[in-house]
Amino acid sequence: MTPTRPPSVDALARTLAASDAGQGLPHPLLVDVARAAIASGGDIAAAATAAAEDLRHAMLTPVINATGVLLHTNLGRAPLAHQQAARAQSIELDLVTGERGSRQAAVGRLFARLCGAEAAMVVNNNAAAVLLVMTALAHGRDVAVSRGESVEIGGGFRVPEVLAQSGAHLVDVGTTNRTRRSDYVGAVERHDVALLLKVHPSNYRVDGFVEDTPVAELASIGPPVVADLGSGLLDATCPWWKGAPPPWLHDEPAAVQTLAAGAALVTFSGDKLLGGPQAGIIVGRRDLVERCARHPLARALRPGGLVLAAVHEIALAYLRRDVCMTVAFWRMAATTVADLEARATAIAATVPGAIVLPTEAVPGAGSAPGVTIPSRGVALDGDHLAALRRAPLPIIARVRDGRTILDLRSVDPDDDPIVAAAVVSVLDAT
Ligand SMILES: *Cc1c(COP(=O)(O)O)cnc(C)c1O
Repeated sequence: MTPTRPPSVDALARTLAASDAGQGLPHPLLVDVARAAIASGGDIAAAATAAAEDLRHAMLTPVINATGVLLHTNLGRAPLAHQQAARAQSIELDLVTGERGSRQAAVGRLFARLCGAEAAMVVNNNAAAVLLVMTALAHGRDVAVSRGESVEIGGGFRVPEVLAQSGAHLVDVGTTNRTRRSDYVGAVERHDVALLLKVHPSNYRVDGFVEDTPVAELASIGPPVVADLGSGLLDATCPWWKGAPPPWLHDEPAAVQTLAAGAALVTFSGDKLLGGPQAGIIVGRRDLVERCARHPLARALRPGGLVLAAVHEIALAYLRRDVCMTVAFWRMAATTVADLEARATAIAATVPGAIVLPTEAVPGAGSAPGVTIPSRGVALDGDHLAALRRAPLPIIARVRDGRTILDLRSVDPDDDPIVAAAVVSVLDAT
């Protein structure tokens, strides 16, 4: 009797391609999976199916964010819809003169207008914005930073390290909890201070016996004040918001007001409260923005056409003041609790055992630390996080007090039926 021969690698790869596990995976990757499964010597079919499934889940893929963290750094921060045709773009061509133009011109003009400033430019992210500003304006000189603002922001952005990379020298000012105007004045008298840098501590907060010096008091000292705002709130009055600005934005610094207070430049992220793609925006005095744009590092940090087009579109939405309809982050933020309650009730009605719970959503991405936005969630008994992550369109939820909670503020209403169906199928399988 001849022993059953293992299937050929190619045949197994083709079988996988036709199965749920391998669906959508290109042939060369399935060949790797098949080869490893055959080499493993065990139950080849089971090993191949499991490996193909794992591989599918290791791919970059859209997910449904039901965490209630609106800007979830692990899920790409601001969700963004952006479409464009495969056409050439007027990125560096001035259509009026027919001459070569700057890729910063169009988008720079829009952000300058939005912030009430002279000029603006866009780079790959806010870390790049800070690095470029420090390198172009303070390389070989000193930058004064309050000890309370010499912080690390999630994902390895550490103010002293960014300054070290820029070739500027950090001058510590004041103490961790209190820094006064006179501390900055002393630093300027003793050192070759090119810039005063204010950094919004974003994801952390010191309470109690604390004092920091606002931009308005620093502006008259002499060196230009650069404020790294981080999260990208354009205007504290939120002219795009119906009624008074939402209370959860109360302590968040904004570009318009920081520049009006006397900052020479502000920098912020495109994919935090701004609601756009990953980008960094530098706005303020024209001479300083131009020095940044002319620096050789600007070439290495410049965004591509896809990002420029998306940032441009977001800027236009702010100018039209329709971001609460057109920008996903603001749409999520503006959803009423009554709407969320109705959606949660509709989902719970289709899921045996599910209940609706009040929840607290958060802006996320280090924006507005400590604040919460009232929300509603669908709650299920037990921990179903792993099964939900394995849904055809993976769902990311969280567990609290032994319950799986799907917070609907971070879910697009169009995805509600997908969430309901996934939850039903997860519960059926248990
Ligand atoms: C988030 C943040 C950064 C880093 O911005 P990225 O866009 O993530 O590079 C820098 N500074 C502050 C204050 C931040 O909040």
